[in-house]
Amino acid sequence: MSLEKLDVASLKKSGYMKQRQRDLFVVRLRMPCGNVTSEQLAGISKIAERYGTGYVHITARQGIQIPNVDIHNLDAITKELEDNGTPPGSCGPRVRNIIACPGSQECNYGVIDTYGLGLMLDREFFGEDMPVKIKFAVTGCPNACAKPQENDFGVMGVLKPGLYTDDCTACGTCTFMCPEKAFIIDGTKIKILWDKCNLCGACIGACPSDLIYEEWKGYRILVGGKIGKHPKLGHELMIAKSPQETVALFRKMIDWSKKSTNVGERFGDCLDRVGFDNFKKQIL
Ligand code: SF4
Ligand code: SF4
Ligand code: SF4
Repeated sequence: MSLEKLDVASLKKSGYMKQRQRDLFVVRLRMPCGNVTSEQLAGISKIAERYGTGYVHITARQGIQIPNVDIHNLDAITKELEDNGTPPGSCGPRVRNIIACPGSQECNYGVIDTYGLGLMLDREFFGEDMPVKIKFAVTGCPNACAKPQENDFGVMGVLKPGLYTDDCTACGTCTFMCPEKAFIIDGTKIKILWDKCNLCGACIGACPSDLIYEEWKGYRILVGGKIGKHPKLGHELMIAKSPQETVALFRKMIDWSKKSTNVGERFGDCLDRVGFDNFKKQIL
């Protein structure tokens, strides 16, 4: 890396962000779903000691970055980070680190495998050049811990319950288990008020007679959210049936965005300009 060839915009593409202090950079790591092995973590620690000032910063988007790296050391630190399995990430107008909550692998409420989907999205989209930054978040259930509504592209795991009403004894257990109060006893039989049900799946297993079953699981797709100076919540586009369908849908939207988004215009602002219904028609 030579000072003469310094091009801050292209350095950002490789995950190096210039600090205010002369010749110092923050090196941001690629860390899909915020996961790193203990061995990699030990490696990052040694690398931060060698090239930084002995500490790392945990970013707001589940990443790790190493501050205070001298510009002359960018090539060397990159090589060591790559050997460690934690290469530098990407900043600027492109697809950023994919974030995910623990989902069904670790959380009791998780309906979908967020890490699995997060890695698929990372492989397909991470670092892709765009007219503007694009943030993805994957969350395992409607509790929305990964805040998919605040990202340009969000996914939320959902589960539709089904009922064997014929054998219902109207015991009422399920009415207490549903956080949305979506179950009501109608005469002698139970029923679900679908306008209240948010598809969280918490009722599966709640019935002592095993009358509540999983009808399907899905991937609710949210688009156009953002936070920052002018926050807005994303729109629900549809519920995809599989991780593959989810990735294919985002491919369509990423390609659409490359043609339709103005440079620097956030995806949600582009949707406001084009009209969400119009966008939806083009994508679906
Ligand atoms: S969104 Fe749901 S699955 Fe993810 S951490 Fe929160 S409660 Fe668990
Ligand atoms: S899926 Fe969730 S909101 Fe819907 S009925 Fe079951 S517990 Fe209630
Ligand atoms: S818990 Fe089962 S048996 Fe009891 S009211 Fe609900 S569905 Fe009917």
